[in-house]
Amino acid sequence: MKPIILAVAITGSVPRKRDNPAVPITPSEQIESTHEAFEAGASLVHIHVRNADETPSSDPERFAAVQEGVRKLCPGMIVQFSTGGRGRDPSARGSSLYLRPDMASLSTGSVNFPTIVYENAATFVSELAERMLEYSIKPEIEIFDLSHIHAARRLIDQGLMHDRPHVQFVMGIQNAMPAEEHLLDILLAETQRVIPKATWTAAGIGRHQSEVMRWALARNADALRTGLEDNIRISKQRLATSNAELVKQAANLCALYERRPAKASEARAQLGLEAALS
Ligand code: ZN
Repeated sequence: MKPIILAVAITGSVPRKRDNPAVPITPSEQIESTHEAFEAGASLVHIHVRNADETPSSDPERFAAVQEGVRKLCPGMIVQFSTGGRGRDPSARGSSLYLRPDMASLSTGSVNFPTIVYENAATFVSELAERMLEYSIKPEIEIFDLSHIHAARRLIDQGLMHDRPHVQFVMGIQNAMPAEEHLLDILLAETQRVIPKATWTAAGIGRHQSEVMRWALARNADALRTGLEDNIRISKQRLATSNAELVKQAANLCALYERRPAKASEARAQLGLEAALS
């Protein structure tokens, strides 16, 4: 069976303990939750950090602590930092990149979110891309709109990004792109035309998580994305007990499409990342 990367977004900037007590907040909770998800088959972790009061943080010390714990307990797992904006001071969004995670998320344009405008001005996006290039960090381009694909292409043309980024289509955020299967075909065709060497995945938010994973599997995606950041429920009736439970659910879906969770070394090879630092 062909391997597929299972990416786990452990925390995000929105869900709180009162929404689901399994959302990991402190670095030690995040390390433990990632370790369980790794054992369940995840090979990539997408990390946001939080302050003690659960609000979003950009604190490099927290990012460093989580990265160190994950590298120790989850050999080879791909570490991806969020540079996402919700609740964070824009000037601090790239402040942890000097820690050289394997990857970082990069939103290449602005979009409406449920209650805010998620602002990513072109100059700001270029600065983040340049810093990722400087630290040899592979970007995961967050596609919230068709124009964001073309913005990524411009970064490549300007020499601010390599021509083989990892791309994630984000579907199902209120006021942004709806989770509709035909839209994934449009996005994917356009990406393959404009950034032909890109690897790709798709994220379905909330109740759309499983269906978007199925659409991605049916189109031979390089990765699947799950985790409590996007969805806190295992089913309509029940909250997920952990990130690992969501990863197991994703692994079960893979089997239906004759795919299996990639080992960390396979995930690195798939995304063209170097072997893990020991
Ligand atoms: Zn995120």
